[in-house]
Amino acid sequence: MGKKKDSLELYFHIPFCIKKCDYCDFLSGPATRVGQEAYIYALLREMKAVSAIEKRTVDTVFIGGGTPSVPECGIMEKLLQGIGKNFQLAADAEVTIEANPGTLTPEKLALYRRYGINRISIGLQSPENQELRALGRIHNYQQFLESYHMAREAGFSNINIDLMFAIPGQSYEGWIQNLRTVAKLGPEHISAYSLIIEEGTPFSARKLDLPDEDTEYRMYEDVAAVLGKYGYYQYEISNYAKKDRNCRHNEGYWQRKDYLGLGLGAASLVGRERFTNTSDMSEYLENSGNLEKIRTDRETLTREDEMGEFMFLGLRMTKGVSKKDFQEYFGTSIEKIYGEVLEKYKKQGLLLEEDGRICLSRAGIHVSNAVMADFLL
Ligand code: SF4
Repeated sequence: MGKKKDSLELYFHIPFCIKKCDYCDFLSGPATRVGQEAYIYALLREMKAVSAIEKRTVDTVFIGGGTPSVPECGIMEKLLQGIGKNFQLAADAEVTIEANPGTLTPEKLALYRRYGINRISIGLQSPENQELRALGRIHNYQQFLESYHMAREAGFSNINIDLMFAIPGQSYEGWIQNLRTVAKLGPEHISAYSLIIEEGTPFSARKLDLPDEDTEYRMYEDVAAVLGKYGYYQYEISNYAKKDRNCRHNEGYWQRKDYLGLGLGAASLVGRERFTNTSDMSEYLENSGNLEKIRTDRETLTREDEMGEFMFLGLRMTKGVSKKDFQEYFGTSIEKIYGEVLEKYKKQGLLLEEDGRICLSRAGIHVSNAVMADFLL
């Protein structure tokens, strides 16, 4: 039993935002220039410690947040130099940076390109200014358009746009119109998530005018068909891409490739070990060069854990899981372990089997959490 260990993915967490959005519970917030610099230096210390023991070639890099486009060029350049110095990137590595409208400049974009960033993921959420205000976003649609065109002019030919549905006050028709507006721009990739009300956020304390369950169901159900008309295909529960433009980094997560997360609160999977960096900023700043001290929640996965993850994560992808891969990884057949569960959901029409792969049906995608949870042993 084993899993592919030859490749590695890297994630860098940049926990800065201009201002907190009203629905956000990510590890992020405003920071001064001095605070940002101190953090990047800490990240460089962690990189050095990691690179002393990790020598594999890196297939994908994802600089996420927060808003990685907040730090000025001088600060960001130190991080990008650090990545180049400490890690060996594959010649065709996918290198993504997340960005928010209102924080990008031609200088920043030129810097990203110069250091090999070849994919940019822009958090738009909605092309409707009223909805952006309802979410507490810092930008309007015009600023997004400026950022988008600036990115194209800087040479980015692989752009993702994040969109959100089930926003307070949003109608079904409004959402479909939002999809069309964005698809017409022709980004290579669109992520479409529903708004989740997280505890402890300003949204959780407000009475919100949210779409009812039926409307939200239709909002999700019709994304694939609407975007399909513009040449996008759904390859994961919330992700749609033009041909050959899937996000390789995220696919790596769902396929359980090894990944190392660097920075505050970043999660890693190495072999059968899962761990997460401390989310305490002062602890991170003080100890980032000492991996033993910052890595918390260490867990060695059992064979059963790995099987559960294989199914739980693999079923997120529309192509589902390969029976052959399961057999190769675990040395036993998928039917032997999951025969009953598979039968049950196939009978209910929630799972399908085709060409040696098992995947969620359209009906199955709507209840994916319940179906996938049944595979945890
Ligand atoms: S920009 Fe993103 S990470 Fe920052 S507060 Fe808003 S949702 Fe959260």
